[in-house]
Amino acid sequence: MDKQDKKIRRKKQRTAALCSKEGISLTSHPTQTVVVCNAGLTTGASRESIVERFLPHASPRRVRMVPGRQFCFVEFDDEESACRAVEALDGRGCEPVLYLAFTESVPDALCCPPVATALPPGATLVTNIMDETEEQNILSQLTFGDDGSMKHRQVQHFGYEFDYATNNVDATRPLPGGLPAWCEPLVERLQARHLLAERPDQLTINRYLPGQGIPPHVDTHSAFTDQLVSVSLGADTTMEFSRPPPGGATAAVRLPRRSALVMDGEARYLWSHGIVPRKSDVTAGVGGDLTLTPRGTRVSLTLRRLRRAACHCRHPQQCDSRQPAADAEQTAALSRTLESTHVAQVYENIADHFSCTRHKPWPRVEQFVRTLPTGSLLLDVGCGNGKYLGLNRHLFEVGVDQSARLCAIGRARGHQTVTAGCLPLPVRSGAVDACICIAVIHHLATRERRTAALRELGRVLRPAGRALVYVWALEQRLGARSAGYLKRGRQRAGADGRPEDAAALPLPVHTNRTEFQQQDVLVPWKLRGGAELLPSGVHHRYYHVYRQGELEEDARSAGGLVVRESYYDQGNWCAVLENAS
Ligand SMILES: [Zn+2]
Repeated sequence: MDKQDKKIRRKKQRTAALCSKEGISLTSHPTQTVVVCNAGLTTGASRESIVERFLPHASPRRVRMVPGRQFCFVEFDDEESACRAVEALDGRGCEPVLYLAFTESVPDALCCPPVATALPPGATLVTNIMDETEEQNILSQLTFGDDGSMKHRQVQHFGYEFDYATNNVDATRPLPGGLPAWCEPLVERLQARHLLAERPDQLTINRYLPGQGIPPHVDTHSAFTDQLVSVSLGADTTMEFSRPPPGGATAAVRLPRRSALVMDGEARYLWSHGIVPRKSDVTAGVGGDLTLTPRGTRVSLTLRRLRRAACHCRHPQQCDSRQPAADAEQTAALSRTLESTHVAQVYENIADHFSCTRHKPWPRVEQFVRTLPTGSLLLDVGCGNGKYLGLNRHLFEVGVDQSARLCAIGRARGHQTVTAGCLPLPVRSGAVDACICIAVIHHLATRERRTAALRELGRVLRPAGRALVYVWALEQRLGARSAGYLKRGRQRAGADGRPEDAAALPLPVHTNRTEFQQQDVLVPWKLRGGAELLPSGVHHRYYHVYRQGELEEDARSAGGLVVRESYYDQGNWCAVLENAS
């Protein structure tokens, strides 16, 4: 036995071991199916390249690829063909050297589903949409110069220019001349056969040389109407379709020359279509055997009609007309959840405990209140238990809070409170001399709403009236001193202490007394003891913690407010805003 034979034997032993590990039963007697190992599949060998290796010896009936593995299965019509293939290829030939073994059965679970060749729903393929004379006539009128040539194919536009940067069309700039005259009989035929409901007004002509393709894409919904037509001239090709998950599927459809493919419905709006750049396609030949068909030069005529309005298709996920609306809807839904579940409900639930922890007013807030002129009307927006009310006996004061329980606590302490949110405030415009809004606006879930809340403060203030606003700061460690919130020895960052239900929460949970990792967070409130302890005992309050300068920016974009003063205090960003009207 020479060196080469030994190597083959060793490889064959390895192949047998691999197959046994994968649950593929090998057999020594010939069968119709061979397992092909070392096929280079994980390094990108294609079904085409496998078919190409086998074709000179025997035509495969089916090639079944195995995702992520170095082997595949090739099925033949009979044992004789399989034997010929094994004799010719096993351990022989060019790289990668293939090792073949007979197998009784193919484990379906391993394999890719067989390649579907049926058209996706909504697509229609009409063969012989024109005769050879018309085909030749059209091809002879087309010139493909260096002008307008693209990287992987050559292209010409009629009616309107298609912009590949935006994948859209500028409907205000029609090209002179409209569609070419030779196109007319084809368009009339498509309409007469009821394949096209509307007259196309845009034509794109692509020329694909062998080896060229077009990446998978869905034609921009807002650019064109329901029906797209792709007419193939000069050569056949294989178009690959793919439906995104859920319900993902693929199909490889042969488009013969002189055929028209009409894409409507799902095929138009949901499935992507493209052509893999390669020089041959695997096709089923006479009797169903696989053959490798070399590609010729194909010219495609794509006929479309500009939409000129928003798309109303049934596939909003793929629809550029609806994407912004869908996003906005999602954001609105999330902000509603955050503000109702993670702010309003939480304060209602923790009101008593929260109130017990809120006694001492922050000195600079107290100073603001104490220095207001006698007889001023002060509005405390988000007054909580009313700890800033009653500090200055020479004022008229009203507290507003959306928590009925906190308002009740405030009332029980002799303050005037109104149960209401801050958007809008239940107060007449220009009615109050001063506002305080302490640790409130950071509970609003979008910048629009936070800005609107500042605008509301401006609205209820009399001209030159002032509001003091405090919001929690992202920066809990400014300068040399940390804010009191960060306690010594507990300054670890990270997600330790995350509750078990964290995965079910809409935002990351902040670890108390550590630095903030992001601006939008849920901050746990642990209820201690007593009958009010809810199942988890932990309530998550939503916060948008402000970065430096953000409060001033929001105040400026609110309009009608001047920032008189801004500072950092107790881990908060603070601003004195004045009604500038
Ligand atoms: Zn659409």
